[in-house]
Amino acid sequence: MRKLLAWPVVAALLISTGAAFAQSNITDKYRATMIPRFVKYVQIGSMSDNNAEWMTPGQEEMAQVLYEEIKAFGLPTYFSKDKYIYVNIPSNLKDRKAPTLGFSAHYDTTPDIIGNNVKPQVIEKYDGQPITLKNNHVIDLKSDPYLAQMIGKTIVTSDGTTNLGADDKAGITILVTLLQTLAENPNIPHGPIQVVLTPNEDVGRSAERLELEYYHPDYAYDFDAGVNGEVIIGNFSADRIVVTAQGINGHQSYAAENGYRNSTDPIAFVTKRVAREKNLPNNSSGYEGYIEPHHFDYDPVANTHSVDFRFRYFNQNEGKRWHKRLDRAIEAAQRKFDVALTKEVIKQYENVEYGVKPEALSLLTSSLKEAGITPNLKKERAGTTSSMIMAKFGFGGYTVFTGQNNPHAFTEWLSEEDMFLGFKTVMNMVKNAAQMNIK
Ligand SMILES: [Zn+2]
Repeated sequence: MRKLLAWPVVAALLISTGAAFAQSNITDKYRATMIPRFVKYVQIGSMSDNNAEWMTPGQEEMAQVLYEEIKAFGLPTYFSKDKYIYVNIPSNLKDRKAPTLGFSAHYDTTPDIIGNNVKPQVIEKYDGQPITLKNNHVIDLKSDPYLAQMIGKTIVTSDGTTNLGADDKAGITILVTLLQTLAENPNIPHGPIQVVLTPNEDVGRSAERLELEYYHPDYAYDFDAGVNGEVIIGNFSADRIVVTAQGINGHQSYAAENGYRNSTDPIAFVTKRVAREKNLPNNSSGYEGYIEPHHFDYDPVANTHSVDFRFRYFNQNEGKRWHKRLDRAIEAAQRKFDVALTKEVIKQYENVEYGVKPEALSLLTSSLKEAGITPNLKKERAGTTSSMIMAKFGFGGYTVFTGQNNPHAFTEWLSEEDMFLGFKTVMNMVKNAAQMNIK
């Protein structure tokens, strides 16, 4: 009898610890695939281009490689005509409705620094000494204190003639490894999962041609932040505003008679009224916004002059006040100079804080802690795919660390351990979300 009573307890214990071990065994098993995968991706130059109509040939090649690799896993994959790669994995849970998790990353690299012909160098058991790259670029503990925590671990750099492209091939590596793991281990319980790999993030266009039909999760997470548990929970809103004055042609010497009006005066007037000294970028830091008159355009034939403003603000009310200030300045200029002015607003980023669910953050932070990471929550004076999605579609997301370090530089480097911990975190999220039940 004793034996019989004891057995179910022991069995239950074995099953539960067995499941926990299995998860950690699985992540450890796939760890070895991550560096070769990352090294393969960074060698495919996929810089985006501000002047491209949409894609560069390098991005097309990268997209094709990713699509074929993911399709071979046997997962439901959709390759859109705009070269987004979507994977929608249905839930395998019978008894509950878990939230749909969405994961994104971008496969382009910045146009601001050469990212073609990347020659990655994998440094195993880093010894703490300065790393000298070609063209005298140096990565050392002084310029990069986080490197001190990499002693004895694996890092990857470029050879110094290009950037590395860990931004965001590290995020891509994490998500492709996730997909492979789920495909090869169909007994891992999970709710619905949506993954999207996007082009054009570094030219601010990664949400532009996103199709909601394939990516509209309950909780969204972008894998594109740095190291050491960094999570971006908020960002400034970004509006690009173009104000154009339409002058009236004629000889200026006879303006009193022929109605000639120049288009420069009204634009100078509006610029001065709107971009006040204390709002300029050089007087802004932390969570303060700024107004920058970024550039002017003049067309002498059409007699139009325009100013291109950048409004950046963390606080919606501040943004509203600035827009009102601009509207009043435009009205005043129209009256004063007797010309027509138009205003065009292009919403670039929206603060993700306005469109996230608190449960999405607690799922993330508990999954980070379970992977042994202290969450480092931050707000950023920049935009991410999450904030571009927020601006266009009204749902926000968190941006999660990937192991990329010092992006957009010849001295960019990757922490293998952080990239692996990013993968571990996403696996924990999948596991923990499968325990949730949303009605
Ligand atoms: Zn990025």
